[in-house]
Amino acid sequence: MIPTRVQINRPIPPLTYEAPEGLESGLRVQVPLRTGSAIGVIEGRDPQPPTVKLKPIQEIIDPFRLVPDAVWSLMQFAADYYACTPASLMPLCMSNTLRARWDEPIAGGRSLALLRDQGHWSELQTLGLQWRSGSLKLPTLFHSEERRGVGVSEVYRTDLLPMGRSTEQQRKVLQCLDENQGILSEDELMLRSGVGTSVLQTLEDKNLIVRLKRRDTLSQQRAEESFPAVTLNAEQELVRSQIPLDAFKVHLLYGVTGSGKTEVYLKCAKEVLSQGKRVLWLVPEIGLTPRLLARLESTFPGVVGVGHAGLNASERQSDIIRSLQKEIQLFVGVRNAVFAPIDDVGLIIVDEEHESSYKSEEYPRIHARDLAIKRAQLEGCPIILGSATPSLESWVAAQQGRYRLHTLKERPAGSQLPTVDVVDLREEYRQHRKRTIFSQRLLTGLRATLDRGEQAMLLLNRRGWENFWMCRSCGKTVECIHCSITLTYHKKAFRLRCHLCHYEVTPPEVCPACAEPHLKGVGEGTEQIEELMKTHFPEARILRIDRDTTSRRGQLESKLMAAEKGEFNLIIGTQMIAKGHNFPHLTLVGILNADMGLKLPDFRAAEHTFQLLTQVAGRAGRAENVGTVILQTYSPEHHAIRSALDQNFIQFSDTEIPFRESVAYPPFYALALFRSDAKDPDEARTLLIDLKKKLEAFPDLRILGPLPAPIFRMQDRFHMQLLVRAAQRSHLSAALHQVDILSLKGISLDRDPIHFG
Ligand SMILES: [Zn+2]
Ligand SMILES: [Zn+2]
Repeated sequence: MIPTRVQINRPIPPLTYEAPEGLESGLRVQVPLRTGSAIGVIEGRDPQPPTVKLKPIQEIIDPFRLVPDAVWSLMQFAADYYACTPASLMPLCMSNTLRARWDEPIAGGRSLALLRDQGHWSELQTLGLQWRSGSLKLPTLFHSEERRGVGVSEVYRTDLLPMGRSTEQQRKVLQCLDENQGILSEDELMLRSGVGTSVLQTLEDKNLIVRLKRRDTLSQQRAEESFPAVTLNAEQELVRSQIPLDAFKVHLLYGVTGSGKTEVYLKCAKEVLSQGKRVLWLVPEIGLTPRLLARLESTFPGVVGVGHAGLNASERQSDIIRSLQKEIQLFVGVRNAVFAPIDDVGLIIVDEEHESSYKSEEYPRIHARDLAIKRAQLEGCPIILGSATPSLESWVAAQQGRYRLHTLKERPAGSQLPTVDVVDLREEYRQHRKRTIFSQRLLTGLRATLDRGEQAMLLLNRRGWENFWMCRSCGKTVECIHCSITLTYHKKAFRLRCHLCHYEVTPPEVCPACAEPHLKGVGEGTEQIEELMKTHFPEARILRIDRDTTSRRGQLESKLMAAEKGEFNLIIGTQMIAKGHNFPHLTLVGILNADMGLKLPDFRAAEHTFQLLTQVAGRAGRAENVGTVILQTYSPEHHAIRSALDQNFIQFSDTEIPFRESVAYPPFYALALFRSDAKDPDEARTLLIDLKKKLEAFPDLRILGPLPAPIFRMQDRFHMQLLVRAAQRSHLSAALHQVDILSLKGISLDRDPIHFG
C-alpha cells in the first residue's frame, strides 16, 4: 500500500488515500469521505503525504484506464485550463453506471479478477495499454444493460427542490438521480438506491420525480426517413478539395443559411471513414436536429453513436460501450461529446460553432468548441468549424491566418432572401400614445399569411405571461425572496416563479412592500402572446415552443415535426424556434421586440442579437414563395439589427471588431472571471480583494472589480466578481497557475466566460 492522490468530482484539490502500488492514473476508484463515499480518479503517488493516518480506498472500479490516450490527455489539458480535475470530466465521458466485467477471461485461463486479487496491478496496466492500442481483444469487457428499447420505465428528476422533511430512502433516490444527469431506468434506480416502488410513488406525488414509459420518438422518426446520396455542387466541391484530411488544421466554414455546409461535412466524413479512421461530430442541441441524426444513420448505417442528455441511461451507456469496443465510427453529440471515448479520430466537425451552448455554465466550465480544437491537435487531424454567423473569435483567427477560411455563398436553387419590413416602435408610440405589442403592419401580414394557408412565426425571447410585477403606488417590483431578480407571472399555473431557483408563490393581491392593491404586470412573455393571438386569430392553429412547453423528453422533437408537416400555422416561441428545422410553408416571420437582448449588460449583446435575428429571419427565406420578415424595434439604426436584416455577417463584423478591440475585450483580450460565493455581501467582497492583491503582482493583467455579479443574490448566497484581462492568453495562464484556484474557498473561476451573469 502506498499513499495515492485521488481526485473527486468537486472543485477541491486531490485527497490522499492508501492504495495498492501500481495503480494507473485515470483509474476510477470508490473512496470514503467524511460522510458517505464518492467515485474518484487516481492521479498518482503522493510525494508528500500528510502525516495523519490514511484511509484505504474502498473499491477499484476499472481494471485499467478505459478512456483512449487522446481523451485522457485532453482531460488533463482541460483540467489545467479550466481549473477543474479530470475526475470532474470523467462522468461527461463515461457514466458512473458503466462498469467493467472483472470475470472477463484473458490468455492462460486467468481472469481480470484473479490478477486483481493477486495484486498484479502493473500487469493489468500492461493489458490496458494493449487493449487501448487494439492489440488485445476483450470481447465482453463491459456489463451491457440490454434495456434499450420502447416500453422501459424511466425516472426523471424534476426541477423542484425538496421541501420539508424527506426520509433517508427518498434522499438516496434523489442523490442517485443527481449523480446520473437526472435520468435512470426504474429498475436500475431501484437496484442502486435499494428502495421499492412505494418510495418512488411518494416522490412522484411530491413532484420531485416523474416516471415515464419510454416512447423513443427519435428512433421512430429516424426509421421513417430516407435520403438521397451526398452530391456536391461546384462551390461545395471546391471547399471540399481545399480541406486536406491528413493533418491538423482549423478550418472555418462560413456558409450562408442553406448553402450546404452539411453536404461538405458528410463528404469529408465519408472519406475519413473510408480510410478506416473515425469522426467526431458536435452539434449544439440534438433535439433541434432529429433530421441530421436520421441522415447520418441512413448514410452510415450501423456505425453511428449518439451522446446527449435526452438519451436514457442505458442508451447512453450502450453507445459508450460500443465506442470503447471500437464499434462506433462516427460519434455525434452535444457539448460533452468532445470527450467521446473513440480513438483514431481522423476528423472533427463542430457545427454552429458560434452557439453558446458549447460553453458550460456550471462547473466544470468547459468550452467544447475550444476543446475540440485541442483534441484535433492531439489527434493530428483536421477540424471544421461551421456557421452562417461565425463567432468573432473564430472569424478574427481566420482573418489573422491562424484558421483557414472557406466560404459558401450560394443559396439553394429557387430560394431568395426574404423581404424585410422594419417597424419603428418609437414611431408607433408617437402615433398611438401607447406601447405597441403588435403593430398594424404585423397584424395585417399575419392575416394575409393565414388566409393564404401558409405558416407564420412570432419570436419573443421571454417565456411566462409577463416580465415582472410592479407596484404603481411605491414603484417596487416583486422579487424572489432568495435571489435579486424579479419573479415572472405564469398565468396558467397561477404562480409567480423565479426562473433562477424555482421558488414560486401564489400571486399576492397587495404589494408586499406597501400593502397597496396596485400591482401591475409589465412587459409580456410568450404565454401572453399566445393568448393575445387566440383573440386576434381564433381560427389559427397555434403552437407555442419555449422551455415551459417542451420540458418533457421528446416534446420538442414531436412539436417541431408536427409544425413541419403543417399541423400548425402560427408558431410562437423563444429563441428555440430560431434554429434547425425547415418549415416549408413558413412565409412570415414576426420579431416582436428585436432590442430585447441588446440591453443586457454583456459585451456580446450585439453579437448574440445579430446571431439570433439572422437565424430567425433566415427561417422565412427557405420556402418556395418569397418570405417576409416584419421586425419591430426601438433602435432600427443599431448595427446588429441593420446587419441581421441584410443577412450580412461581414457588415456586422466590420463594425463590431474595431469596437471589441477598442474596449479590450475578446477576441483581442483573453478573459478570466472570478466569482465569489458567500453568505454575506462583505465576505463575498473580501474573498476577491485578497485574490486581487495576489494577481496585482502580474503587470500584464488588467483587473476590474470586485463588483457585484449581475445576479448579486441567488438562493440566499451573495456573489461578487473580479474580471481579469490579458492581451496574451499565455500571460493570463501563467498568472492563473501561480494561484492554486482549487484550494481557494468560496471562489470559482470561469475561463473565457460567455455570460457574465
Ligand atoms: Zn407598493
Ligand atoms: Zn430565486
